[in-house]
Amino acid sequence: VPVSVALRDGIAPDGGLYVPTSFPTPTVTGSTLPEVASTLLAPFFADDPLESELPSLCAEAFDFPVPVRPLFEGVELLELFHGPTAAFKDFGARFLAACFARIVKDPLTIVVATSGDTGGAVAAAFHGRPNVDVVVLYPKGGVSARQEKQLCAFGGNVRAFAVRGVFDDCQRLAKEALRAWGSTSSANSINVGRLLPQMAYYALATHARGPTTVVVPTGNLGNATAALWAKRCGLPIERVVLATNANRPIPDFLATGRYDPRATVRTLANAMDVGAPSNLERVRHLYGDDLSRIRVDVRAESVDDAEIRATIARVHARTGVAICPHTACGVAAWERLGGGPALIAATAHPAKFETVVEPLIGAPVEVPPALAALLARDGRATEIEPTLAALDRAVGR
Ligand SMILES: *Cc1c(COP(=O)(O)O)cnc(C)c1O
Repeated sequence: VPVSVALRDGIAPDGGLYVPTSFPTPTVTGSTLPEVASTLLAPFFADDPLESELPSLCAEAFDFPVPVRPLFEGVELLELFHGPTAAFKDFGARFLAACFARIVKDPLTIVVATSGDTGGAVAAAFHGRPNVDVVVLYPKGGVSARQEKQLCAFGGNVRAFAVRGVFDDCQRLAKEALRAWGSTSSANSINVGRLLPQMAYYALATHARGPTTVVVPTGNLGNATAALWAKRCGLPIERVVLATNANRPIPDFLATGRYDPRATVRTLANAMDVGAPSNLERVRHLYGDDLSRIRVDVRAESVDDAEIRATIARVHARTGVAICPHTACGVAAWERLGGGPALIAATAHPAKFETVVEPLIGAPVEVPPALAALLARDGRATEIEPTLAALDRAVGR
């Protein structure tokens, strides 16, 4: 199907996930994210109604910087948190919103399950857009106070629901609503329109380099899938290291070949609290479900809360740089594998997790202006049981 249909639908009619049918190897040029994104994504949008819009889409969606910050010993942070909601989810959400603004002509409800950051990014990207309603589902008590403020800050066409359960309940509920309600779409990373634009920052950071190891703090495997797709498009990404928190299905799958989804464990890196990562099937598909081929390109390490804390403190003591708990998983995983030159995705601003980070570094973390503006707003979520019936009632269906 054309890419605009895949991203409009969110999920394939048979319930599966859309993937590119082939991976072109375009010559990536440019020094800004919109330029790089346009050249990288052009083949995916060839003959699509959005083809001619791609440069303007990218310019609209990617209007904030993506700096690379040297940390130590060749380790660099790819800072993905300079968008409006201070996490990397802004890239995919803003790209999707820019696409939808051009292709959606009839009223549509976007249902999004969030472990903390997706919901805020989607809410910010779609707030006030005509024809689109957003329903955000987040685990009550499972997100940071500042994440929750972001989720509830919008109102209008964006409604937030605190689900009495964990992220996997929210994900299941979102899938049930997508199936049961008409005229819906998903803004989770099951939507291919989230993953394609995420390839662009890996392209920007690596296209002019030699072979580079990329370390990706991983939950639902969306960001890492984007890195692997970027590699398949010919970018010099040598290896992708998946850093998970104490939720272990991915490292265990790589170690044993058995995929064993399980109940989510709550951790300090809450946006990665995923027990049943939906994009694993995309990674398996990419490698023809051949574990030995996956192992050539991919490593995975699990990092527990004690190590997250120790890493935040150690990195700050050594460099003066405050990192968020997710980024800390990336640094800790990479150090465990021996360290050395690598690009580590810094997925959220530490100010979103100040109650964790500030006591560990013994200093306040400055709040970026866009985040401060959101935190100044007021709002409230409706609490619901983790059932479709409860959600139906709450949204008035
Ligand atoms: C969503 C998120 C992750 C995990 O990304 P996936 O694409 O779900 O693997 C990591 N860090 C932060 C800060 C996030 O918001």
